[in-house]
Amino acid sequence: MTAATSAPVDQYVVAGNPVGHSRSPEIHAAFARQTGQSLHYDRLLCPLDGFEASLRGFVAGGGRGCNITVPFKFEAFRLAARHTPRAALAGAVNTMRFDEGAWLGDNTDGAGLVADIERNARRPLRGLRVLLIGAGGASAGVLGSFIAGRPAQVRVVNRSADKAHALIASHQAFAAEHGVQLSAGGLDEVGDAHDVLINGTSASLSGAGVPLPDRDAPVLVRGGVAVDMMYGPSAAPFLDWARAQAGDAGEMRDGLGMLVEQAAEAFFLWRGVRPDSARVLANLRAGREADA
Ligand code: NDP
Repeated sequence: MTAATSAPVDQYVVAGNPVGHSRSPEIHAAFARQTGQSLHYDRLLCPLDGFEASLRGFVAGGGRGCNITVPFKFEAFRLAARHTPRAALAGAVNTMRFDEGAWLGDNTDGAGLVADIERNARRPLRGLRVLLIGAGGASAGVLGSFIAGRPAQVRVVNRSADKAHALIASHQAFAAEHGVQLSAGGLDEVGDAHDVLINGTSASLSGAGVPLPDRDAPVLVRGGVAVDMMYGPSAAPFLDWARAQAGDAGEMRDGLGMLVEQAAEAFFLWRGVRPDSARVLANLRAGREADA
């Protein structure tokens, strides 16, 4: 009698540098158990000058898809042969599916962040004034989704102001279609207080604290919403600073909700089924197993 051979388990990774902090493996493992999908999800630390080689090695070993994190989202965009419309608008890719012959690049960051604000926190964006701090891959991924939520305006500020200007330039036509006013500047050009404040920089990841310079006037209105895309204790300095301006009626969120929601979108792209992301997020926030 010959031993039954089982099909190899589909492989996925989060590729980036650093990736050690990523909670994506436990989230995707929970989604897989919830939905009865057979897959394995791991971390892939890529050298800063070796992202493409790392991905090619992973695909040669049977990799089916990956998430992409800091700092490779623009490079991932260039490596994908095809793009979803939201990735094409962003010019950045956070999710790849390695279809034979032509890698597909998607961007689920914006859908994830907006779902966390509008659905999980029940704060509709319509008519609000949004400040997006940062113009890297993550900020590029979310700007289109913010515009689609039809706030009154989105201002993008970045340490390198030219990148903020380039980011809004690529979204101006889309913003005009949605009646949203876009503007850009440096970190010291924040303007009046905003209703929604997003920290899309990697300042919290690197322990650099609040990315904006000190100023007397508030950046966030009383009762406003603040999100740091970073999650866990590293987000605390930014969220504490924002809470001091927003007061008790404010809504302070780290990036865990965004992470779970963007992961659910990626899982759907890869597997064609939608996991129960709200349950996974509630479990993680309560310190339980992700799929308890
Ligand atoms: P990138 O490397 O592409 O961009 C980094 C951005 O941060 C740039 O705008 C950069 O400015 C800015 N920046 C870095 N350090 C500082 C600092 N000390 N002060 C002010 N600005 C700074 O990274 P990503 O855009 O891919 O990721 C940004 C963050 O978002 C990371 O912490 C990442 O972990 C998090 N993230 C979380 C997600 C989630 O699901 N919760 C999803 C995606 C990202 P400059 O252009 O001037 O260099």
